[in-house]
Amino acid sequence: MKTLEDNQHRRIDYLRISITDRCNLRCRYCMPEHGIPLLSHNQILTYEEIIKIVKIFVNNGIKKIRITGGEPLVRKNIENLIAKISSIEGVKDLGLTTNGVLLKELSKKIYDAGLNRINISLDSLHPGVFESITRRPYFYKVWDGIMEAIKTGFDPIKINVVVIRGVNDTEIPNFLRLAMDFPLVVRFIEYMPIGENNDWSYEKVMPVKEIKNIIENYVRLEPLQPNEYGGPAQRFAIYPSKGEIGFISPVSEHFCDRCNRLRLTADGKIRTCLFSDDEIDLKPALKDETPEKSLLNLLKQALQRKPPHHNIVPFMIKKCQRFMNSVGG
Ligand code: SAM
Ligand code: SF4
Repeated sequence: MKTLEDNQHRRIDYLRISITDRCNLRCRYCMPEHGIPLLSHNQILTYEEIIKIVKIFVNNGIKKIRITGGEPLVRKNIENLIAKISSIEGVKDLGLTTNGVLLKELSKKIYDAGLNRINISLDSLHPGVFESITRRPYFYKVWDGIMEAIKTGFDPIKINVVVIRGVNDTEIPNFLRLAMDFPLVVRFIEYMPIGENNDWSYEKVMPVKEIKNIIENYVRLEPLQPNEYGGPAQRFAIYPSKGEIGFISPVSEHFCDRCNRLRLTADGKIRTCLFSDDEIDLKPALKDETPEKSLLNLLKQALQRKPPHHNIVPFMIKKCQRFMNSVGG
């Protein structure tokens, strides 16, 4: 079986694919309300092009795929893409990250198409705070979507919570309760500097250590083994209750030495690191009569160019130029 290694000898087996830069929310930390240049239809990779890329990458060592966006569920007939990717031999794990707004309608369709792992982003359990973060009054749509995903049978269902000091940090105990009362893995994520136009500042980042201290006032946390395929979350079981929570600390303790991923943007560019603007355009190679060789060459270039680590350190912040909606998180 083929494997891929980058220039730091890290095994690369995970591809995150942003299938659209469009979204039905406007989270303040991700994209501005207006004025963002969106990709046109002919700039966006077609499902056929995505499948072509995935087949070649999987043949050469990628095993895990995640579909993201923008909001992936706004793209038409997403179940067709999921069915195609899940049937590619060599895809061991297929996940999707969504804001949950359209999940009530689509949960069963995407599950039946072959998706079994889903991450849902939810930063507040208060409808008003949810609206002030996302600029849309859709809390109950997301809540209904989460309940529908449980009913459908997704396992695991992970809830991603970006913690922003002064905005939703007082809700940490409520999210702990959510992980104790429902079959949901709640993961707390540090607020990251990305895009030019958000209001990120180092003071607003709540380091994972601090979040963990708050939680340990309520329960005892028992470390769990890292995820298969080396996911970045530190995982914990909750005692004496049931449930699992996780922490993702891209800012305070980066996990770059364990990074196993590449990203594909909706317009066909490989990004070697979430925080770097270095991109490799796959679109010209897709037009070749036999794209296999040229795509493989570009994949190898990406592995060579993958940086050893990002450079987010306090007081020396370099924000990257793309908004998060076009990179996919
Ligand atoms: N629209 C989908 C969603 O929100 O789940 C998928 C795309 S979104 C860009 C992927 C993830 O990135 C979400 O969990 C979101 O919370 C996270 N994210 C976006 N901007 C972020 C930021 N500045 N810091 C930390 N996480 C961020
Ligand atoms: Fe949309 Fe996800 Fe970005 Fe929020 S985080 S604006 S839901 S892409």
